[in-house]
Amino acid sequence: MELSTRRYDLHSHTTASDGMLSPAELVKRAVDNCVDVLAITDHDSTAGLEEARNTISQDKLPLILINGVEISTVWKNQGIHIVGLNIDPNHDHLQQLLRKQTEYRRERAQEIAAKLAGLGIVDSYQKAEQYAQGEIVSRAHFARYLVDLGIVKDINKAFKRYLGKGKPAYISPRWCSITEAVEAIHAAGGVAVLAHPTRYDLTATKLRKLLDEFKQIGGDAIEVSQSRQSRDELYMLAKYALQYEFLASQGSDFHSIGQYVDLGKVEPLTENVTPIWYNWSYERDSIRIEDT
Ligand code: AMP
Ligand code: MN
Ligand code: MN
Ligand code: MN
Repeated sequence: MELSTRRYDLHSHTTASDGMLSPAELVKRAVDNCVDVLAITDHDSTAGLEEARNTISQDKLPLILINGVEISTVWKNQGIHIVGLNIDPNHDHLQQLLRKQTEYRRERAQEIAAKLAGLGIVDSYQKAEQYAQGEIVSRAHFARYLVDLGIVKDINKAFKRYLGKGKPAYISPRWCSITEAVEAIHAAGGVAVLAHPTRYDLTATKLRKLLDEFKQIGGDAIEVSQSRQSRDELYMLAKYALQYEFLASQGSDFHSIGQYVDLGKVEPLTENVTPIWYNWSYERDSIRIEDT
C-alpha cells in the first residue's frame, strides 16, 4: 500500500485515561472506521498500549499501532498538552515523569473534591476514583459524576459551570513544564507534538510565543488537523507549521462515541506541510495484513 493512501489518526483516548472505550474496543473501532495507523495517546499514561497491541495481534487486525501519550504541562499558568508519538513506553525517564503526574492528579482530585464539597457536592473524590477504575483521575471523571447526579445536563456544562478555567472547582494546574515533557518524550525515543494548538484560547500573539518556545525547546511537530476545527484554522496551522518548520500531525482526539468527531474522521493535511509520518517505517509492525 502506498504511504499516501494510509489513513492516520494520531490522537485518541481509552479507559486508561478519560476515554470511554477499552483499548481492545478502540482498536476494533479503528479498523471498522478504516484507520490504518492509530496512535493511542492517553493522558499521562501508557497503560492502554499493551491490551491494544495484544488485541491487534490476537485478532490479526489490519492496524498499525503507534505508542503514544498525551502529557499535561503548564505554561504561563495555562494547561498545554504535548503528545509523544513512537515512544518506548517502558522507558524509565518517561515512566518516572508519568508517575509524578499521576500522583499530582490524585492530589489535584482531592483539591477539586474539597472545592465541590464547599459547594455542597460531597463524596466526589471517591466517585471520581470509581469512575477512573484504578487508572488516572481526570476532571472528566468528576464531570461524569456531576452529570449522573443530575446537577448538570452534560459533560460540557460540568466544565462550564464547575471544572473549567476560572470556575468554582477549578485548580490552577501544577503539571510539569513543556521542557520536561519534551525531554521525557525524546529520551523515550519519541517525537513531541503540540496538541490542538487552537484549543487553548490564546491570543494570536500568545500562540506565536508558544510556538516560538516549543521550537526552541526542541518540539518536533504541531497538530494541524484536529477535531472541531474550521478550514481557516486548518490553513492557519498549516501556515504556522511551515513558518516554524514543524512537522504536521493529525488526530481526532477521540474520547467516546457520539462526542465530537469519530475515530479516524479528520480532515486530511494540506499539501504544503510535511506529515509527521514522512519517514516512518512499519517493519516492526509487519502484523499488518495488506490485502484485506
Ligand atoms: P484533566 O486532564 O483532568 O485536566 O481533564 C481535561 C479533560 O477533560 C480533557 O482532556 C477533555 O477530555 C475533558 N474536557 C475538558 N474540557 C471539556 C469540555 N468543555 N467538555 C467536555 N470535556 C472536556
Ligand atoms: Mn481528555
Ligand atoms: Mn488534549
Ligand atoms: Mn487528547
